[in-house]
Amino acid sequence: MATTTAAGGSVLLKAGKEKSLQRRHPWIYATAIAQVIGTPANGALVDVRGSDRRFLAWAAYSPGSAIRARCWSYREADVIDADWLGERVRSAVARRLGLWVSTNAARLVFGEADGLPGLVADRYDDMLVVQIQAPGVDSHREALLDALCAATGCATVFDRSDAALRTREGLPASGGVLRGPAPLEVVRIHEHGVQYAVDIRRGHKTGFYLDQRDSRRALADLVRDFVQRHGRGPRVLNCFCYTGGFSLAAALAGAAEVISVDSSADALALARGNAELNGLAGESPQALHWVCGDVFEQLRQLRDQGERFDFVILDPPKFATNQHQVDRAARAYKDINLGGLRLLQPGGSLLSFSCSGAIEVDLFQKIVASAVIDSGIDCYLRGRLGAGLDHPTLVTQPEGEYLKGLLLERT
Ligand code: SAH
Repeated sequence: MATTTAAGGSVLLKAGKEKSLQRRHPWIYATAIAQVIGTPANGALVDVRGSDRRFLAWAAYSPGSAIRARCWSYREADVIDADWLGERVRSAVARRLGLWVSTNAARLVFGEADGLPGLVADRYDDMLVVQIQAPGVDSHREALLDALCAATGCATVFDRSDAALRTREGLPASGGVLRGPAPLEVVRIHEHGVQYAVDIRRGHKTGFYLDQRDSRRALADLVRDFVQRHGRGPRVLNCFCYTGGFSLAAALAGAAEVISVDSSADALALARGNAELNGLAGESPQALHWVCGDVFEQLRQLRDQGERFDFVILDPPKFATNQHQVDRAARAYKDINLGGLRLLQPGGSLLSFSCSGAIEVDLFQKIVASAVIDSGIDCYLRGRLGAGLDHPTLVTQPEGEYLKGLLLERT
């Protein structure tokens, strides 16, 4: 090869397999590779070349993973070192600066979309929670943590990497305090005036569903609008409520009654605590009910009891974690959407979400549409909901847009 080779080695693609990279999809699957020159270590820098041996990208090599390499850059002139990585971190942090007027918790680095595949960094008040889930970012972890601490002024860094994901990438388990003093048992955050206690050690993801911030805000706005138009607070059903995100947003915006359902007693205990934190317990005029149970069953039960709601929120866990689960997941999404629609008052709204990357936006809309048809309830699509600005996606990697929501209104 006439051109220079990266220290770790080179990856040559099969003829015809260059397209996806040329379209700037950042993953190189093992099946696309014709030959690996050298013996690059896990996480090593490699140059990726087409079948004509022309440079396509710099990438981090993952010998044990189906995603055999993840792209750092498509510019041959780039030098992928600590300075380059630091710059990526600094620009990711700078892109979020506008968020701090409304919250003290946000995602600072979101993997591929911020040019740092496999790295997630979330800020909760004055601490950082990270997930380091690919060999490339793992091999530069100290430089990345230095850059994150310097860019934010945070001292504590807590690791919530997913053990199964790291194993699949050939990385040893990792977790706990990486930098600074140990975090508190619960970290207090606020978002659009709502207070939440977050358990960053045991909570889902890195502790909180930061990706639903804009939709919690959208619900609060809809509730305020409802109060203005009807002169009364709406009745709200929040399914899969976790620690009460949507429930508290609705209650503080003026909902008269909020019924929240989740199967996790631990999540509900935190949710109750969050209600207290916001002055929504005891003497407060809003009635908050926390139900520990299965949403599929509860939806049927509420229907049998003839219950009706002005707002129903469906924010289930990821029903499909891969393509093989799409059909089964589609049936589950349809089931809950049918159940939710049947509980709507005339004029009521359904906020329905899917966080399954394997279910694309069009398919999700089709599933919800088929629930609308089966329910016999007339609805129109009032809007679309999704993750906030701190969860950017690559326009060239559609599966990165995992969270999608539809706002339907019953006519
Ligand atoms: N809306 C929440 C996040 C929901 S996460 C927020 O904004 O913070 C999904 C939740 O669904 C988890 O708390 C999980 O405990 C719960 N869950 C999963 N399966 C369930 C089921 N069948 N019935 C009730 N809750 C369920």
